[in-house]
Amino acid sequence: MSDTIKYLLPESDIPKDWYNIVADLPEPPPPVLHPGTHEPVGPDDLAPLFPMALIMQEVSAERYLEIPGPVRDIYKQWRPSPLFRARRLEKALDTPAKIYYKYEGVSPAGSHKPNTAVAQAFYNAEEGIKKITTETGAGQWGSSMAFAGAFFDLEVQVFMVKVSYQQKPYRRALMESYGASCIASPSDTTQSGRAILEQDPNSPGSLGIAISEAVELAAQRDDTKYSLGSVLNHVLVHQSIIGQEALKQMEMAGDYPDVVVGCAGGGSNFAGIAFPFIGEQLRGGQSIRAVAVEPAACPSLTRGQYAYDFGDTGNLTPLTKMHTLGSSFMPPGFHAGGLRYHGMAPMVSHTKELGLLEAVAYHQTPCFEAAVTFARSEGIIPAPESSHAVKGAVEEAMRCKREGKSETILFNLSGHGHFDMAAYTDYFSGSLEDKNYDEQSLSDALAKLPPVAAS
Ligand SMILES: *Cc1c(COP(=O)(O)O)cnc(C)c1O
Repeated sequence: MSDTIKYLLPESDIPKDWYNIVADLPEPPPPVLHPGTHEPVGPDDLAPLFPMALIMQEVSAERYLEIPGPVRDIYKQWRPSPLFRARRLEKALDTPAKIYYKYEGVSPAGSHKPNTAVAQAFYNAEEGIKKITTETGAGQWGSSMAFAGAFFDLEVQVFMVKVSYQQKPYRRALMESYGASCIASPSDTTQSGRAILEQDPNSPGSLGIAISEAVELAAQRDDTKYSLGSVLNHVLVHQSIIGQEALKQMEMAGDYPDVVVGCAGGGSNFAGIAFPFIGEQLRGGQSIRAVAVEPAACPSLTRGQYAYDFGDTGNLTPLTKMHTLGSSFMPPGFHAGGLRYHGMAPMVSHTKELGLLEAVAYHQTPCFEAAVTFARSEGIIPAPESSHAVKGAVEEAMRCKREGKSETILFNLSGHGHFDMAAYTDYFSGSLEDKNYDEQSLSDALAKLPPVAAS
């Protein structure tokens, strides 16, 4: 049998609807609260930041939400994305497990993020918005939004976490190639940025700070909205296209996963692959184990508290109940910048509380080791974020070997690492460090959770 087994769907099989897990969960998630009054927010409270169509998706309880024609048309450039059977990796690991992976690195920006960027750009343009502000960590989201903005004539302004801005000039160049502007955050162009710089002129920045800056600008202008690349319900809904396609492709393969694995930063690609399978289970279909893999240096699902918290450092966003390390928590540096966020998608957190998913955390060195094994057997260089999913899948495959089980493992390879080769260079030179977060600063950050956390 051939070692390369690829399951490709025809273009006509791009799903016509996104999937919304809320419709199938036994309990709805806790409400989103206003940061000042602590009362549940309504659609109007979110209107300064997001177009109404996205707000309605954010609060929707419908199982299926139709994908607009123009969005599906752009998806056709790279979707349906391929699903592979990782036969060579199975051999390299000498495991009886069957390993499949869905590859989202085929998008022009190199990750799953354009799945939601295109949708968000479409709805903003439809409502007459001219400009989008957003933040980016390692640059994956910023380049995805820049890519999508170019298709809908939207001006895109990206606040890029300063340390990444300095370390990843090529991601910045990619954003600029798509026509976006990119500012290092914290910057002196916003009040939130200036407040941080006053305290620490050399602040390396964080996603939480960059979000504050982008939100502040969007709130000031009618023709400008804010866009977030993960965490929110509507983002998770857009990413469901990954799992929806994977369901069909597993059927083509005549197989069904026992375990579904994804890396989790804000939770969107993990939810994207896992929620459609969890939905099948909730509607009486086959059961799966869903495993979210996070970085040990920023472990919101495995070490965070399930509590109401802000999404940003400047505390401008509404309060959501999620697994959080505290909005003032500063994780130590590591290469998977896209996983360096203090919170987790409220819907992923809620689903975990319901006992429908598991979480594990690994340090970066073992993740790079798994990624290199993967690259040498499958030929694709995983993004540092995605290397966590690879590690999670390899661990499951090794467990199958110990237990003599031939389970089926499906994981999401959320992106390629072509812009992250400096991280691989560090790995090969042995200069990667697995830094632990500081226990004291975690308890300090948790102690500062807003008081509603107790309720
Ligand atoms: C941004 C990013 C992630 C993490 O974000 P999620 O919302 O948790 O999916 C993972 N992988 C890649 C390649 C990314 O760019």
